[in-house]
Amino acid sequence: MDYQKILNTIESEMNYRDVEGKVASYIPELAKVDPRKFGMHIYCGDKQHFCFGDSDENFSIQSIAKVFSLSMAMILMGEDLWKRVDVEPSGDPFNSLTQLEYEQGVPRNPFINAGALVISDILVAQLEDPKQELLDFVRKITGNPEIDFDKKIAASEKSTGYRNIALVNYMKALGNIKCEVEPIVDFYFNLCSLSMSCKELAQAFMIYANKGKILDTGEEILTPTSVKRINALMQTCGFYDEAGEFSFEVGLPGKSGVGGGIVAIHPDQYSVAVWSPILNHKGNSELGMKALERLTTLSGLSVF
Ligand code: GLN
Repeated sequence: MDYQKILNTIESEMNYRDVEGKVASYIPELAKVDPRKFGMHIYCGDKQHFCFGDSDENFSIQSIAKVFSLSMAMILMGEDLWKRVDVEPSGDPFNSLTQLEYEQGVPRNPFINAGALVISDILVAQLEDPKQELLDFVRKITGNPEIDFDKKIAASEKSTGYRNIALVNYMKALGNIKCEVEPIVDFYFNLCSLSMSCKELAQAFMIYANKGKILDTGEEILTPTSVKRINALMQTCGFYDEAGEFSFEVGLPGKSGVGGGIVAIHPDQYSVAVWSPILNHKGNSELGMKALERLTTLSGLSVF
Protein backbone atom coordinates (compact mmCIF):
# COMPACT_ATOMS: atom_id res chain seq x y z
CA MET A 1 0.00 0.00 0.00
CA ASP A 2 1.44 3.37 -0.98
CA TYR A 3 0.28 5.38 2.03
CA GLN A 4 2.39 8.43 1.13
CA LYS A 5 0.63 8.67 -2.21
CA ILE A 6 -2.75 8.43 -0.50
CA LEU A 7 -1.79 11.12 2.02
CA ASN A 8 -0.52 13.38 -0.77
CA THR A 9 -3.85 12.98 -2.56
CA ILE A 10 -5.76 13.85 0.64
CA GLU A 11 -3.59 16.92 1.24
CA SER A 12 -4.13 18.15 -2.31
CA GLU A 13 -7.92 17.60 -2.17
CA MET A 14 -8.59 19.35 1.14
CA ASN A 15 -8.70 23.04 1.90
CA TYR A 16 -9.69 24.73 5.13
CA ARG A 17 -11.56 27.36 3.06
CA ASP A 18 -14.05 24.69 1.95
CA VAL A 19 -15.32 23.95 5.45
CA GLU A 20 -17.96 25.95 7.25
CA GLY A 21 -17.33 25.36 10.94
CA LYS A 22 -15.44 27.37 13.53
CA VAL A 23 -12.49 26.91 15.87
CA ALA A 24 -13.66 26.11 19.45
CA SER A 25 -14.08 29.32 21.43
CA TYR A 26 -15.76 28.27 24.69
CA ILE A 27 -12.23 27.63 26.02
CA PRO A 28 -10.74 31.11 25.35
CA GLU A 29 -7.16 29.86 24.72
CA LEU A 30 -8.38 27.47 21.99
CA ALA A 31 -9.90 30.38 20.05
CA LYS A 32 -6.37 31.66 19.37
CA VAL A 33 -5.36 28.62 17.27
CA ASP A 34 -4.68 29.25 13.57
CA PRO A 35 -7.63 27.73 11.61
CA ARG A 36 -5.37 27.01 8.61
CA LYS A 37 -3.40 24.32 10.47
CA PHE A 38 -3.71 20.90 8.87
CA GLY A 39 -1.59 17.81 9.33
CA MET A 40 -1.86 14.04 9.27
CA HIS A 41 0.39 11.20 10.37
CA ILE A 42 -0.03 7.47 9.89
CA TYR A 43 2.01 4.88 11.78
CA CYS A 44 1.88 1.37 10.35
CA GLY A 45 2.20 -2.03 11.99
CA ASP A 46 5.51 -2.57 10.15
CA LYS A 47 6.87 0.61 11.84
CA GLN A 48 6.73 2.75 8.69
CA HIS A 49 5.55 6.35 9.11
CA PHE A 50 3.94 8.69 6.57
CA CYS A 51 2.76 12.27 7.02
CA PHE A 52 1.97 15.67 5.57
CA GLY A 53 1.51 19.28 6.69
CA ASP A 54 1.60 20.34 10.33
CA SER A 55 1.88 16.77 11.61
CA ASP A 56 4.82 17.60 13.89
CA GLU A 57 3.23 20.60 15.57
CA ASN A 58 1.81 20.25 19.08
CA PHE A 59 -1.83 21.08 19.76
CA SER A 60 -4.29 20.62 22.61
CA ILE A 61 -5.54 17.05 22.32
CA GLN A 62 -8.58 17.70 24.57
CA SER A 63 -10.98 14.73 24.68
CA ILE A 64 -8.61 12.40 22.85
CA ALA A 65 -6.87 12.19 26.24
CA LYS A 66 -9.97 10.49 27.68
CA VAL A 67 -8.74 7.28 26.02
CA PHE A 68 -5.54 7.47 28.10
CA SER A 69 -7.36 8.07 31.41
CA LEU A 70 -9.81 5.26 30.63
CA SER A 71 -6.87 2.92 29.92
CA MET A 72 -5.28 3.78 33.28
CA ALA A 73 -8.58 3.21 35.12
CA MET A 74 -9.02 -0.17 33.41
CA ILE A 75 -5.53 -1.20 34.52
CA LEU A 76 -6.41 -0.19 38.11
CA MET A 77 -9.96 -1.54 38.38
CA GLY A 78 -10.54 -4.20 35.74
CA GLU A 79 -14.17 -5.10 35.14
CA ASP A 80 -15.36 -3.38 38.36
CA LEU A 81 -15.01 -0.12 36.46
CA TRP A 82 -18.30 -0.75 34.64
CA LYS A 83 -20.24 -0.33 37.90
CA ARG A 84 -19.27 3.36 37.84
CA VAL A 85 -19.68 4.11 34.14
CA ASP A 86 -21.81 2.49 31.43
CA VAL A 87 -20.80 1.46 27.90
CA GLU A 88 -23.68 2.80 25.79
CA PRO A 89 -23.57 5.59 23.18
CA SER A 90 -25.27 8.69 24.55
CA GLY A 91 -26.62 10.31 21.40
CA ASP A 92 -26.17 13.60 23.27
CA PRO A 93 -23.54 16.35 23.09
CA PHE A 94 -20.26 15.68 24.91
CA ASN A 95 -21.00 18.09 27.76
CA SER A 96 -24.63 17.14 28.33
CA LEU A 97 -26.11 17.02 31.84
CA THR A 98 -29.25 15.13 30.85
CA GLN A 99 -29.55 11.36 31.33
CA LEU A 100 -27.61 11.46 34.63
CA GLU A 101 -30.74 11.99 36.69
CA TYR A 102 -32.47 8.96 35.20
CA GLU A 103 -29.41 6.77 35.55
CA GLN A 104 -28.48 7.50 39.19
CA GLY A 105 -25.41 9.50 38.27
CA VAL A 106 -23.87 6.67 36.21
CA PRO A 107 -22.75 8.27 32.93
CA ARG A 108 -23.60 6.54 29.67
CA ASN A 109 -19.96 6.03 28.65
CA PRO A 110 -16.41 7.06 29.61
CA PHE A 111 -15.98 9.49 26.67
CA ILE A 112 -18.73 12.01 27.37
CA ASN A 113 -17.53 14.59 29.90
CA ALA A 114 -19.60 13.08 32.73
CA GLY A 115 -17.95 9.68 32.16
CA ALA A 116 -14.45 11.12 31.90
CA LEU A 117 -15.04 13.01 35.17
CA VAL A 118 -15.99 9.75 36.95
CA ILE A 119 -12.81 8.19 35.53
CA SER A 120 -10.89 11.23 36.83
CA ASP A 121 -12.45 10.68 40.28
CA ILE A 122 -11.25 7.05 40.23
CA LEU A 123 -7.68 8.04 39.31
CA VAL A 124 -7.56 10.87 41.87
CA ALA A 125 -8.84 8.50 44.59
CA GLN A 126 -6.44 5.67 43.81
CA LEU A 127 -3.18 7.28 42.69
CA GLU A 128 -0.76 9.22 44.87
CA ASP A 129 0.20 11.69 42.11
CA PRO A 130 -2.39 11.20 39.31
CA LYS A 131 -1.11 13.97 37.01
CA GLN A 132 2.45 12.63 37.14
CA GLU A 133 1.26 9.05 36.59
CA LEU A 134 -0.76 10.21 33.60
CA LEU A 135 2.31 11.90 32.13
CA ASP A 136 4.39 8.76 32.82
CA PHE A 137 1.77 6.63 31.03
CA VAL A 138 1.53 8.86 27.94
CA ARG A 139 5.31 9.39 27.75
CA LYS A 140 5.88 5.64 27.93
CA ILE A 141 3.44 4.62 25.19
CA THR A 142 4.62 7.48 22.96
CA GLY A 143 8.33 6.97 23.63
CA ASN A 144 8.77 10.71 24.26
CA PRO A 145 9.68 11.88 27.80
CA GLU A 146 8.97 15.52 26.89
CA ILE A 147 5.17 15.29 26.58
CA ASP A 148 3.52 17.71 28.97
CA PHE A 149 0.38 19.62 29.91
CA ASP A 150 -0.29 23.06 28.46
CA LYS A 151 -0.77 25.08 31.65
CA LYS A 152 -2.30 28.04 29.81
CA ILE A 153 -5.00 25.85 28.23
CA ALA A 154 -5.73 24.10 31.54
CA ALA A 155 -6.09 27.47 33.34
CA SER A 156 -8.23 28.86 30.53
CA GLU A 157 -10.59 25.90 30.68
CA LYS A 158 -10.77 26.11 34.47
CA SER A 159 -11.79 29.77 34.26
CA THR A 160 -14.82 28.87 32.12
CA GLY A 161 -15.40 25.26 33.22
CA TYR A 162 -18.77 25.76 34.88
CA ARG A 163 -20.50 22.89 33.07
CA ASN A 164 -17.83 20.37 34.02
CA ILE A 165 -17.84 21.59 37.63
CA ALA A 166 -21.65 21.29 37.59
CA LEU A 167 -21.40 17.73 36.27
CA VAL A 168 -19.09 16.68 39.12
CA ASN A 169 -21.29 18.33 41.74
CA TYR A 170 -24.39 16.70 40.31
CA MET A 171 -22.86 13.23 40.22
CA LYS A 172 -21.53 13.75 43.75
CA ALA A 173 -25.06 14.53 44.90
CA LEU A 174 -26.19 11.30 43.22
CA GLY A 175 -23.42 9.28 44.95
CA ASN A 176 -21.11 8.44 42.02
CA ILE A 177 -18.22 10.78 42.94
CA LYS A 178 -16.00 9.97 45.93
CA CYS A 179 -13.32 12.72 46.03
CA GLU A 180 -13.67 16.47 46.47
CA VAL A 181 -14.66 18.44 43.37
CA GLU A 182 -11.50 20.60 43.07
CA PRO A 183 -8.84 17.85 42.65
CA ILE A 184 -11.08 16.02 40.16
CA VAL A 185 -11.60 18.99 37.86
CA ASP A 186 -7.95 20.02 38.26
CA PHE A 187 -6.92 16.57 37.00
CA TYR A 188 -9.54 16.64 34.21
CA PHE A 189 -8.57 20.11 32.90
CA ASN A 190 -4.90 19.10 32.87
CA LEU A 191 -5.76 15.83 31.12
CA CYS A 192 -7.57 17.74 28.36
CA SER A 193 -4.67 20.21 28.05
CA LEU A 194 -2.13 17.53 27.05
CA SER A 195 -0.11 18.94 24.19
CA MET A 196 0.89 16.47 21.46
CA SER A 197 1.47 16.32 17.72
CA CYS A 198 -0.22 14.04 15.16
CA LYS A 199 3.00 12.04 15.02
CA GLU A 200 3.00 11.49 18.79
CA LEU A 201 -0.70 10.65 18.88
CA ALA A 202 -0.31 8.09 16.10
CA GLN A 203 2.58 6.53 18.01
CA ALA A 204 0.68 6.47 21.32
CA PHE A 205 -2.47 4.97 19.78
CA MET A 206 -0.50 2.16 18.20
CA ILE A 207 -1.06 0.19 21.43
CA TYR A 208 -4.78 0.04 20.53
CA ALA A 209 -3.90 -1.24 17.05
CA ASN A 210 -1.34 -3.72 18.40
CA LYS A 211 -3.38 -5.68 21.00
CA GLY A 212 -2.13 -3.57 23.90
CA LYS A 213 1.61 -3.79 23.20
CA ILE A 214 4.04 -0.94 22.49
CA LEU A 215 5.16 -1.66 18.93
CA ASP A 216 8.80 -0.66 19.42
CA THR A 217 9.47 -2.53 22.69
CA GLY A 218 6.85 -5.31 22.67
CA GLU A 219 5.90 -4.40 26.25
CA GLU A 220 2.27 -5.24 27.07
CA ILE A 221 0.48 -2.20 28.56
CA LEU A 222 -3.11 -3.42 28.23
CA THR A 223 -4.58 -6.89 27.92
CA PRO A 224 -6.10 -7.84 24.55
CA THR A 225 -9.52 -7.88 26.28
CA SER A 226 -9.08 -4.30 27.56
CA VAL A 227 -8.04 -3.19 24.07
CA LYS A 228 -11.11 -4.87 22.58
CA ARG A 229 -13.31 -2.97 25.04
CA ILE A 230 -11.59 0.41 24.46
CA ASN A 231 -11.79 0.03 20.68
CA ALA A 232 -15.47 -0.92 20.94
CA LEU A 233 -16.10 2.22 23.00
CA MET A 234 -14.19 4.37 20.50
CA GLN A 235 -16.29 2.89 17.70
CA THR A 236 -19.63 3.46 19.43
CA CYS A 237 -18.98 6.55 21.59
CA GLY A 238 -15.80 8.27 20.34
CA PHE A 239 -17.65 11.07 18.52
CA TYR A 240 -20.58 11.71 20.89
CA ASP A 241 -23.76 12.39 18.92
CA GLU A 242 -21.80 11.94 15.69
CA ALA A 243 -20.51 8.42 16.43
CA GLY A 244 -22.88 6.91 13.87
CA GLU A 245 -21.77 9.35 11.18
CA PHE A 246 -18.08 8.66 11.84
CA SER A 247 -18.66 4.88 11.65
CA PHE A 248 -20.72 5.37 8.49
CA GLU A 249 -18.21 7.62 6.71
CA VAL A 250 -14.87 6.40 8.05
CA GLY A 251 -15.47 2.95 9.52
CA LEU A 252 -12.74 2.92 12.17
CA PRO A 253 -12.68 3.15 15.98
CA GLY A 254 -11.52 6.66 16.83
CA LYS A 255 -11.61 9.60 19.20
CA SER A 256 -11.95 13.31 18.61
CA GLY A 257 -11.18 16.41 20.67
CA VAL A 258 -12.33 20.03 20.48
CA GLY A 259 -8.74 21.07 19.75
CA GLY A 260 -9.46 19.71 16.25
CA GLY A 261 -7.56 16.43 16.56
CA ILE A 262 -8.90 13.00 15.62
CA VAL A 263 -7.13 9.68 16.13
CA ALA A 264 -8.35 6.44 14.58
CA ILE A 265 -6.95 2.93 14.48
CA HIS A 266 -7.23 -0.10 12.26
CA PRO A 267 -6.51 -3.18 14.41
CA ASP A 268 -3.27 -4.83 13.23
CA GLN A 269 -2.77 -2.31 10.38
CA TYR A 270 -2.22 1.27 11.45
CA SER A 271 -2.87 4.17 13.76
CA VAL A 272 -3.59 7.57 12.23
CA ALA A 273 -3.92 11.09 13.62
CA VAL A 274 -5.19 14.19 11.85
CA TRP A 275 -5.44 17.81 13.02
CA SER A 276 -7.50 20.68 11.65
CA PRO A 277 -8.94 23.05 14.31
CA ILE A 278 -12.16 23.99 12.47
CA LEU A 279 -15.00 22.07 14.13
CA ASN A 280 -18.44 21.15 12.87
CA HIS A 281 -21.49 21.87 15.04
CA LYS A 282 -21.05 18.58 16.92
CA GLY A 283 -17.53 19.58 18.06
CA ASN A 284 -15.56 17.29 15.72
CA SER A 285 -12.90 18.41 13.21
CA GLU A 286 -14.63 18.94 9.89
CA LEU A 287 -11.59 18.51 7.67
CA GLY A 288 -10.29 15.74 9.92
CA MET A 289 -13.38 13.63 9.35
CA LYS A 290 -13.24 14.25 5.60
CA ALA A 291 -9.54 13.32 5.47
CA LEU A 292 -10.16 10.05 7.31
CA GLU A 293 -13.07 9.20 5.05
CA ARG A 294 -10.72 9.61 2.08
CA LEU A 295 -8.06 7.47 3.80
CA THR A 296 -10.36 4.46 4.29
CA THR A 297 -11.89 4.91 0.83
CA LEU A 298 -8.59 5.25 -1.04
CA SER A 299 -6.88 2.46 0.90
CA GLY A 300 -9.95 0.20 0.91
CA LEU A 301 -9.14 -0.50 4.58
CA SER A 302 -11.78 0.05 7.22
CA VAL A 303 -12.93 -2.40 9.90
CA PHE A 304 -16.12 -3.11 7.96
N1 GLN B 1 -11.99 19.90 27.73
C1 GLN B 1 -13.16 19.83 26.92
C2 GLN B 1 -14.41 19.98 27.75
O1 GLN B 1 -14.50 19.41 28.79
C3 GLN B 1 -13.14 18.53 26.17
C4 GLN B 1 -14.27 18.40 25.20
C5 GLN B 1 -13.92 17.69 23.92
O2 GLN B 1 -12.78 17.69 23.46
N2 GLN B 1 -14.92 17.17 23.27
O3 GLN B 1 -15.33 20.64 27.38
